[in-house]
Amino acid sequence: MILRDDAIVLKRQNWSETSRIVHVLSRRGGRLKLVAKGSRKLKSRFGASFEPGTLAQVVYYASRSSDLHTASEAAVLWRPRCEDFDGSLLRSVALELAYKAAPVETPNLALFRNLLGFLQATGGPADGSHHTRLVAFFLLALNNLGYDPGLDRCLSCGKAASAALPWFSAVNGGLVCAPCGRRLSGTVALDGAQSSALRLWRDRRALPDLDPACAKRLLEVLTSFLNHHVSGRSRLACVRYL
Ligand SMILES: [Zn+2]
Repeated sequence: MILRDDAIVLKRQNWSETSRIVHVLSRRGGRLKLVAKGSRKLKSRFGASFEPGTLAQVVYYASRSSDLHTASEAAVLWRPRCEDFDGSLLRSVALELAYKAAPVETPNLALFRNLLGFLQATGGPADGSHHTRLVAFFLLALNNLGYDPGLDRCLSCGKAASAALPWFSAVNGGLVCAPCGRRLSGTVALDGAQSSALRLWRDRRALPDLDPACAKRLLEVLTSFLNHHVSGRSRLACVRYL
């Protein structure tokens, strides 16, 4: 069966002298694994369509017997304008999340739109808002994937959200109150900026402007949460390079 779909390139790996395996998040098919024969040849336009972070229209032969399909055509629809180091690093965190957390061949249009929106919003020169955008992408992606962290009440003792819940427990899956946070192992104390950002997200699906250091600490907390809940898959690692 020959299929055509828009796809965001998440990762590519060398497969043979001339071919690559390309992991994409496609609009209709979810995360797919494609073999792109000949894509390692120099000056291959086909190969150039598979730079990570690119949105391409791909045509592929869907295999019935395995999850490895064969790409036959690809055309770039969009790619980041600016390949500055900071922007690439932020985008690589988002691409890694989709690569490691999205189940294979499970359509997820909300995640596709979220990832494309984030890539396009940060595709120009890095500015002060890009770290905040990455945290918003990450929180929305957790929702897209069905891993919403619990932000309403202490996940250990049940104390309501009106109380301060300044600790995060990756094991319990969200916020816990201070006494529980101190008592349980594996919890992280949040600072004021982090807990107010999570509260604003919970109440209004919005974030205040976060400075890069605060954004990074929040991303580390959310990564530990996701790594705890995505069992049996390789752990997210890119956040540590921010
Ligand atoms: Zn508690």
